[in-house]
Amino acid sequence: MLEHKLRTVIRDIPDFPTPGVVFKDITPVLKDASLCLEIVDDLVEKLEGIEIDVIAGVESRGFLFGLMLATRLGIPFVPIRKQGRLPYKTISESYKLEYGQATIEVHEDAIETGAKVLVHDDLLATGGTVVASAKLIEKLGGVVVGFSFIISLDFLKGEGRLTRFSDNIISLVR
Ligand code: IMP
Repeated sequence: MLEHKLRTVIRDIPDFPTPGVVFKDITPVLKDASLCLEIVDDLVEKLEGIEIDVIAGVESRGFLFGLMLATRLGIPFVPIRKQGRLPYKTISESYKLEYGQATIEVHEDAIETGAKVLVHDDLLATGGTVVASAKLIEKLGGVVVGFSFIISLDFLKGEGRLTRFSDNIISLVR
């Protein structure tokens, strides 16, 4: 079963990036091409029945499977990036981190009014990153129709913050 396989392949890295944090490292997954395809197949299956026009992936690990998923569905991929990284005109959204704040941006012409957008990231923790992403999408007139993740850290209760945008929240590993 895919969830079991992912649990064995994803590595726990203690004390990264700061002491006390256990970081979920998905890089071993990326070395296994057939596992990557299996992930995309499973996401496609779980997303069946949801109308999606665009996948928005969050920098940087959200680009990995976000683009694969968009390519597989034959729809556009839109990168949401950290401040100062996108070359064209952008709109931005800031959100709180445990210490300080972060700002993410998207190109102002990335999403058409009324487009149905799925937000994808590798991991859901507190939900701050994807909530800010969903706000950016709404600012452009897009409609958030769901969220997908490879991993959700349920104990951080991020999902509860996403339901105001959509109840379609998919995670391959919890
Ligand atoms: P949140 O905003 O608290 O939900 O944090 C999620 C963001 O932080 C995502 O963009 C993740 O890529 C990143 N992140 C937080 N913890 C981890 C981890 O353990 N492994 C991989 N990425 C993480």
